[in-house]
Amino acid sequence: MAHSYRISFEFFPPKTDKGRENLISAQKDLMSANPEFFSCTYGAGGSTRDNTYETVLAMQQVHPDAAPHLSSIGQEKTELAEIIQQYKEAGLTRIVALRGDLPSGMGYANSELPYADDLVAFIREQTGDHFTLEVAAYPEMHPQARSFEDDIAHFKRKIDAGANYGITQYFYNPDAYGFYIDALQKIGCDAPIYPGIMPIMNVANLVRFSKACGADVPRWLLSRLEDIKEDDEAVTEYGIDIVTRLCERLLAMGAPGLHFYTMNRSEISLRVLKNLGL
Ligand code: FAD
Repeated sequence: MAHSYRISFEFFPPKTDKGRENLISAQKDLMSANPEFFSCTYGAGGSTRDNTYETVLAMQQVHPDAAPHLSSIGQEKTELAEIIQQYKEAGLTRIVALRGDLPSGMGYANSELPYADDLVAFIREQTGDHFTLEVAAYPEMHPQARSFEDDIAHFKRKIDAGANYGITQYFYNPDAYGFYIDALQKIGCDAPIYPGIMPIMNVANLVRFSKACGADVPRWLLSRLEDIKEDDEAVTEYGIDIVTRLCERLLAMGAPGLHFYTMNRSEISLRVLKNLGL
């Protein structure tokens, strides 16, 4: 069915050749959803610099719009400038620009580009309008933010510095997205913000990961998942149902598209999209 929603899929750089093969095979499957772009994450402090680059080049063979993520924290401007130039020379046209995270206990203030808005401004300074820039958004508030007001003001700074679009951290409560969009509009920020959709595959991983990134797994959802956590298939099926309903609500609320955290797999995202008629 023809639709105008922007669909995108995120991968992480695989550690082995087999992992790379699986990723490309998943990417080829996902092409049936007519995505606008694919992206590949970047490890803290540049730890996956080469792997992200090589993975994105392989992804670019399948879809011309393959977007590397880039995080600024713990990296010097000269190195970031080199990476940005390398991306441009490879014909890449989109970057997901982030601050990234430091190991706990280390301070952010010493960094040359301490926040994502600094990185956005730096990329614009280096390469003008060459890149479309996506930045992170947090409907449930970034875990280090002093307040919700502060956090939305910081999101707006990224757009004002030249970012084009937001992609959210994942969440399972659609109202969080609705209130977030309203709050941004009230401060004059109407950049399109795409909900980030996390499939539910493994309960222990979901709980651990959600704690680390500040995403709320609602009590009703967690209790049901706890009941079935030993049965992978039941978790997957229930997860597809939950995520489909979440996406339905988000699109009905006016979300301009969806960004799937694929975990380098295609089945769940494709099942959800099929349920949605997309
Ligand atoms: P920022 O926008 O800089 O915000 C970080 C915190 O600082 C917030 O609390 C904000 O309110 C506050 N802040 C911002 N500006 C200021 C200021 N001027 N003064 C004071 N406080 C300020 N991580 C990776 O390592 N690699 C990835 O590939 C990656 N991909 C991601 C993709 C998406 C779509 C999302 C949502 C997250 C991703 N992350 C990734 C995680 C991200 O790096 C972390 O959430 C990180 O903690 C914050 O990055 P940011 O770009 O949102 O930072």
